[in-house]
Amino acid sequence: MYDFLLTPEEQELKKLARTFVREEISSDFLRKMDKDEIPYPREFVEKLAAINLRGIRFPKKYGGREMSWVAEVAATEEIGCLGMALGCAFVMPSIVGEALNQFGTEAQKEKYLKPYIEGKLVAAEALTEPRGGSDFFGAMTRAELKGDHFVLNGMKRFVVGAEGADFFLVYCRTNFDETAHKYSRLSLLIVDKGPGVETEYMYGLMGCRGGGTGRLVFRDVKVPKENLIGEIHSGALCFHQMMIPERLTSAAGCLGTWGALDLAVRYSNRRRAFGKEIRKYQAVNFKVADSITQLDAARAITYMAAKAVDNQYPNVRRLVSEAKRFATEAAWDVVNNAMQIMGGIGYTDVYPIERALRDTRLGMIWTGTTQIMNLMIQHEYYNQVLDPSYDRRIMEDDAANPDITERCFTDEDMLDVFDGKISNPSVQ
Ligand SMILES: Cc1cc2nc3c(=O)[nH]c(=O)nc-3n(C[C@H](O)[C@H](O)[C@H](O)COP(=O)(O)OP(=O)(O)OC[C@H]3O[C@@H](n4cnc5c(N)ncnc54)[C@H](O)[C@@H]3O)c2cc1C
Repeated sequence: MYDFLLTPEEQELKKLARTFVREEISSDFLRKMDKDEIPYPREFVEKLAAINLRGIRFPKKYGGREMSWVAEVAATEEIGCLGMALGCAFVMPSIVGEALNQFGTEAQKEKYLKPYIEGKLVAAEALTEPRGGSDFFGAMTRAELKGDHFVLNGMKRFVVGAEGADFFLVYCRTNFDETAHKYSRLSLLIVDKGPGVETEYMYGLMGCRGGGTGRLVFRDVKVPKENLIGEIHSGALCFHQMMIPERLTSAAGCLGTWGALDLAVRYSNRRRAFGKEIRKYQAVNFKVADSITQLDAARAITYMAAKAVDNQYPNVRRLVSEAKRFATEAAWDVVNNAMQIMGGIGYTDVYPIERALRDTRLGMIWTGTTQIMNLMIQHEYYNQVLDPSYDRRIMEDDAANPDITERCFTDEDMLDVFDGKISNPSVQ
């Protein structure tokens, strides 16, 4: 239905992802993941690799398809109906691959990016620490350069894929000068799973189970100097670049809540109450109308952001943050509505609506919370509007009495208002 947004090649990719989701992933597999009986879905990764569904945007010479961001969003919204853990396993090459492709050396691309896209290796990214995720630049994991290698010590947590990964991208402090700007404190290292790297699977997650989320502890890990991505102390540059795939794929994955809405629509078409199908009640069918409208609005903003990234448009960070915030919130509303439409049965595990609800809640927390998105969005928008080169009509010029309004910005003017020297009611 949304194929008009896509080129013929992108439509083919979307169809491939749709068929894959329908035919290759069994319900039993999803249930086992949700019960934590599968710690990491390696089999899923290998199946994706077999049909070249990893590394969609990356160069063909490393096994990718060299396609657009729009193509990746289209495929991700199909895969997204499988839930957060598989959605994340699907998009992780886009995130980890971004850093390797943009900043990695040729040797790093051959050694890590290529086999990663081919499904021979699995990777995870480690930003969040026990002391906090939002305050990313305050990271305390440290890597000291000693000759030809770094010595890495520290802890990360909530790392999806920690359990299955063969290597990690780890942000760590390398500049110990206390006066250093936060943007020149960190570096990004490729860390192989090996001596000194401990992983611990996290049981008890509300959702996103079976995705290998775990803790990582690094104890005197020797990391070769050639595993540094980009320049030393330039982790901020990598971080800002990686946040594009992190957030855009979070938005795109949440579009996969179409699956939960479809389920509720079919259910309401056959469930009867007071002698007729519940879909005939406006209280039910308006929830469907609200949900599909929300989802389409989320789709629109996500595709717009994808197109903006494809075209290297300015203000990309704001658009991507808006898409992440809006799509994750819309997805939550959609699944919540789906559960309400289904009544009590929705609250059981008879249908996977409760799993979708548990999963979807994560969208507003990971890859930067809604509040952190808001920080970004307002910051970028203020910069844009207050830039002297901003060239749109200035609405203040249409004010009936601009002098009075401006005068009241000082305390002295406010006193004039109280003293009755200024009587314009719009000022008071
Ligand atoms: C299942 C799961 C998987 C995850 N996967 C990964 C992964 O693969 N790799 C990884 O590195 N991390 C991962 N994360 C971590 C995730 O990105 C963080 O949980 C998230 O960034 C929030 O960090 P925090 O949990 O430390 O919360 P905190 O940073 O402690 O924030 C707590 C609350 O304070 C608010 N807050 C904090 N600072 C501000 C501020 N300045 N203004 C307004 N509000 C603020 C936040 O919005 C939030 O509501 C995952 C988390 C989960 C739960």
